[in-house]
Amino acid sequence: MPRPIEISGLSADYSGVRALDDVSLDVEDGDFLGVIGPNGAGKSTLFSCMLGIHTDYEGTIKVFGQDIRRSKSALRKLGYVPQMMHFERNFPITVREVIRLGMWHGVREERIDEVMQELWIHELEGRRIGELSGGQQQRVFIAKAIVNDPKLLVMDEPVTGIDQTSINLFYGILKDLNANHGMTVVWSSHDLDAVGMLATQVACLNKRMYFHGSSKEFFADESLVRLHSEGSMHIHMQEHKQPPAPPGNGAHVGT
Ligand code: ADP
Repeated sequence: MPRPIEISGLSADYSGVRALDDVSLDVEDGDFLGVIGPNGAGKSTLFSCMLGIHTDYEGTIKVFGQDIRRSKSALRKLGYVPQMMHFERNFPITVREVIRLGMWHGVREERIDEVMQELWIHELEGRRIGELSGGQQQRVFIAKAIVNDPKLLVMDEPVTGIDQTSINLFYGILKDLNANHGMTVVWSSHDLDAVGMLATQVACLNKRMYFHGSSKEFFADESLVRLHSEGSMHIHMQEHKQPPAPPGNGAHVGT
């Protein structure tokens, strides 16, 4: 089976300002990949390119073996959970209706019931999305993303602004989807502790890819962890306006 993601030599600009520079990244079936990097590192841009939203890039992006410039049909095997959104309390759409919007292949109400059970939101099905807590809303958006049984789940900093109890529940659900339902997960996060707990693979991005390898390898290397901890990357960026040099002998650069 082709890899869920194969990215080669990806560069992307906004009005001439470089956001991603020659990024390559392979994601294997069953990976749980944590993408880390400071604000402005290009994580959202990477995801927008992978999702076929940002199309102004150089390089190649293959999703399940298919170049998404040529055909977008492979994107149907992918579910996406965006950054936390804020809703008007009175926005007139219920939990069940939000999840239904995620069904591309014809609506199956029993499948909606199933995902609501899995994500413990079945008791909320008739409530308006805007009146839920941030953690509940985020579970609704995972439900919408997985209702078609995607083989790959992509999430962009999905827990920003959510309380810790909901975050723990959310992480438990992700672990279960990955370990027990065979779902490959690509997830950007600012939370290194969570990445250490959940991810099997780590990618450190700061316009360029500075490390991509196993989580074990990343966390065993103290200098790598220190260098890529959010604080030090922020300081480095502010001081030098450049990404930090890769640690060690550079063997980790790229994939
Ligand atoms: P991250 O998700 O890691 O915080 P982004 O991908 O959002 O990083 O941003 C990468 C760079 O691209 C930043 O310098 C940001 O200001 C710029 N950028 C992102 N989106 C846009 C946009 N729509 N227009 C112009 N510049 C953008």
